[in-house]
Amino acid sequence: MKCKATNVPPAGEVDIPALREKYRQEREIRVRPEGQKQYVRPDDDGNDAYEIDPHTPVQARAPISEDLDVAVLGGGWSGLLAGVELKKAGVKNFRNIDHAGDFGGVWYWNRYPGIQCDNDAYCYLPMLEEMGYMPSKKYTDGYDIYDYMRSIADRFDLYEKALFHTLVSTMKWDDRLNRWRIKTNRGDEIRARFVVMANGLLNIPKLPAIPGIHDFKGKMFHTARWDYEYTGGEYRNPELSKLADKTVAIIGTGATAIQAIPYLGRYAKQVYVLQRTPSTVDERKNVPTDPEWANSLKPGWQQERKANFQRAAIDTFAPGDEDNICDIWTEVNRNLVAEFEQEGWPTSPEQFMEKRELMDYRVMERLRARVEALVEDKATAESLKPWYRFLCKRPCSNDDYYSTFNRPNVTLVDVSKTRGVEEMTEKGFIAQGQEYEIDCMIFASGFEVTSDLDRRWGIDAIEGRDGLSLYEHWADGYQTLHGMMSHGFPNQFYVGFYQGGFNATTTETFSRQSHHIAYIINAALERGLTSVEPSKSAQDAWIQHIRETAIDISQFQRECTPSYFNNEGEAQLDSKGEEKFRWYLGESYGPGWDAFQSLMQDWRDKGDLEGMVVGTD
Ligand code: NDP
Repeated sequence: MKCKATNVPPAGEVDIPALREKYRQEREIRVRPEGQKQYVRPDDDGNDAYEIDPHTPVQARAPISEDLDVAVLGGGWSGLLAGVELKKAGVKNFRNIDHAGDFGGVWYWNRYPGIQCDNDAYCYLPMLEEMGYMPSKKYTDGYDIYDYMRSIADRFDLYEKALFHTLVSTMKWDDRLNRWRIKTNRGDEIRARFVVMANGLLNIPKLPAIPGIHDFKGKMFHTARWDYEYTGGEYRNPELSKLADKTVAIIGTGATAIQAIPYLGRYAKQVYVLQRTPSTVDERKNVPTDPEWANSLKPGWQQERKANFQRAAIDTFAPGDEDNICDIWTEVNRNLVAEFEQEGWPTSPEQFMEKRELMDYRVMERLRARVEALVEDKATAESLKPWYRFLCKRPCSNDDYYSTFNRPNVTLVDVSKTRGVEEMTEKGFIAQGQEYEIDCMIFASGFEVTSDLDRRWGIDAIEGRDGLSLYEHWADGYQTLHGMMSHGFPNQFYVGFYQGGFNATTTETFSRQSHHIAYIINAALERGLTSVEPSKSAQDAWIQHIRETAIDISQFQRECTPSYFNNEGEAQLDSKGEEKFRWYLGESYGPGWDAFQSLMQDWRDKGDLEGMVVGTD
């Protein structure tokens, strides 16, 4: 092993029934009957402040009217990688279209202080070998990711045709032209043969619908639109000097807040952290890249590392496997292997699952003990302890988070008993009957992840053949072939989490999907096909296969504390009347990532676009 097992309590010391009961109680106090509806989009009340780009001035330009081979909707990781794969496949006549002023997606919009990627940068940043780039440390800063993305766009000449500050308003399939007619907020009329929907997952900020939110007279902003004018400092040097005389409150303690709160603690006069559910926060150990290690790497190292991360975080290790990632994401499997090597490997999947569940509780016990060791005030430490299974929420790591609560100017306000912040007033907020006066409220309240698609995509109409609305077509669940195309929507492709394989490294998922999509588009263009679309029977067969082989995680989701991982604990009944929770990763392929990739490779190798109905007129 490259790293050791962590020091978790022995199995015999963990009282699972008692912990299960505690987890249940903690979940109960947080579930809200209105589920997703507890949130509003910032523009729900006509407030268009979030439509304004604070980072790049909007350039005037004439509307475009054109025929195009491919329109790629999005310039975040999925759109960028779609562009790269199209270029590599030999497709030239395409554009990325994005709301933002540049490539970058979440890494464009999110510029809050302390922003970093929580995943191993040697996995997360794609094409490191091809680009000849090595991250400077294990967890990269947001601005380095943004710069890297722009360098990829540059290398693959994606800027030349990209349309920024452009929002697609409608897209309709024209059966006569065999093209998508796309209209935008800039007056463009684009007739694209193919469209790639790379709209992203974390693009629409959400706000809690707190009574009185509009009465507050002070400053408010969401972390995805950090206002450095107000706080002082700047993106690449976040010295928030203007907060020295300000009382600031922040709502949320998720992955974003964990990174920003230490900066608020350092600079603001007074900080109130309004917490409903605590995150799990492990040590970060953000070590600089060791040049000796970097020089020793052999070609193909990055794919090997990603495969190792996939086994460590999602699948399982086999005897003799090493954990090369060595962080919070890989701890459960790393610890299991260490014990199996000593005590013998499980003899059945059931035994393995039992041990894995037990390790989950043991790791969480370790993380709770960590809070106690680092936070001086006992009541605060108690409130900061997470009571749920390890993967119910995104695990975090940060070396300054807990110690921030030892500062005299930082106060944790536990709002779990009221299922969130009770009320806002002209001057501040109310918690347990007490009014707190503040100058500024910062919303680290996340993004619309599992809400209805039309809210998240923001395109007024997406109409396929015969005016069929994609939103209506998918209202009761995704209907796709391989998660990338849908019957009734010719020449339309999806990059993201729908009905296919997913990799622990998000960018790897996008990259491989893009490769497959680019293959189909290029094949269609080379063969003179004007339309490609999965047949209904091929699509039905895929849906049946993915559902029959799915791993049922509904019990786990049912018991999890609410979050976007389980649609805020809001279940939907499936056709058999069983409770199902919208999973933010869509319907994942049960047999796993490698099996899905083999399936896609075999499909491409056959070369006959199996299961597709094609048109040539
Ligand atoms: P999250 O959705 O993870 O967190 C939102 C926070 O707001 C939660 O703590 C939530 O509490 C809280 N909240 C919501 N409503 C209320 C309310 N009414 N009262 C009090 N608190 C409330 O959003 P983040 O922006 O933190 O993270 C979103 C995602 O962005 C991450 O999960 C991750 O995928 C990504 N991200 C990735 C990073 C990376 O390293 N790659 C870094 C940062 C973010 P509760 O939990 O109780 O609902």
